[in-house]
Amino acid sequence: MHLLYLDDAGSAHNPAEEYLVLGGVSVFEAQAYWFTQELDKLATTICPSDPHGVEFHASEIFSRRKHPWKDMTREEAQGVIKAVLAVARNSFDTARFFACAIHKSSFPGRDPMEVAFEDLCSRFDRYLARLRGDGDRQRGLLILDESAHETTLQRMALEFRTLGTKWGVVRNLAETPLFVNSRASRLVQVADHIAYAVFRRYNACDARYFDVIASRFDSSDGVVHGLAHKQLVDPSCMCPACMSRRVGRPTA
Ligand SMILES: [Zn+2]
Repeated sequence: MHLLYLDDAGSAHNPAEEYLVLGGVSVFEAQAYWFTQELDKLATTICPSDPHGVEFHASEIFSRRKHPWKDMTREEAQGVIKAVLAVARNSFDTARFFACAIHKSSFPGRDPMEVAFEDLCSRFDRYLARLRGDGDRQRGLLILDESAHETTLQRMALEFRTLGTKWGVVRNLAETPLFVNSRASRLVQVADHIAYAVFRRYNACDARYFDVIASRFDSSDGVVHGLAHKQLVDPSCMCPACMSRRVGRPTA
């Protein structure tokens, strides 16, 4: 089974933010333990007496308001976010990153989370279809943070069977997404960091975190399929997602 851990960054309703991002990482089930071990090791360097109490939540680390982040310098805290992303970047070749950045005002009247979730489900489904073409017949399962404050995401997950049929993505995906507690899942924490890195890239033009993982988004035939920049404001956008679609020559 291929597991796609997803989390969101930015808010659908905050007018101060231009973007909403849904993103995460697909891993083969047997690889999940490695991520837990590596992030536990990193947590031990931050809080040796209670590494399991350290939850990596990128926006909290960045804002440095809570323990153990409030005792860090800005550079130290930003270094932790990069270290989490580096663990993900240096993981298995078969771990694939996915993210969808929605420019909210390009989709008036639509719920940006719904646009992002539909887009990511179909990206993951197409990725699994490609693996099937190479003989890998494993199915995919979506795993979401249960505290996802976006009720839209929870509603869509509950209606996934109906929506998946409508979107045409039930072929390769298990029919019900799972919700897990981010405190207990290091992979949801990795997904949180990937979503945050993409959010900073698009919402704040801050590519420091995105650059750590930019090479790891799912791609084939020169197109970065794993990263989508959904916007109607800049037809000549030079981001890797937009650029690869303009110059890529997909064969299928
Ligand atoms: Zn772009």
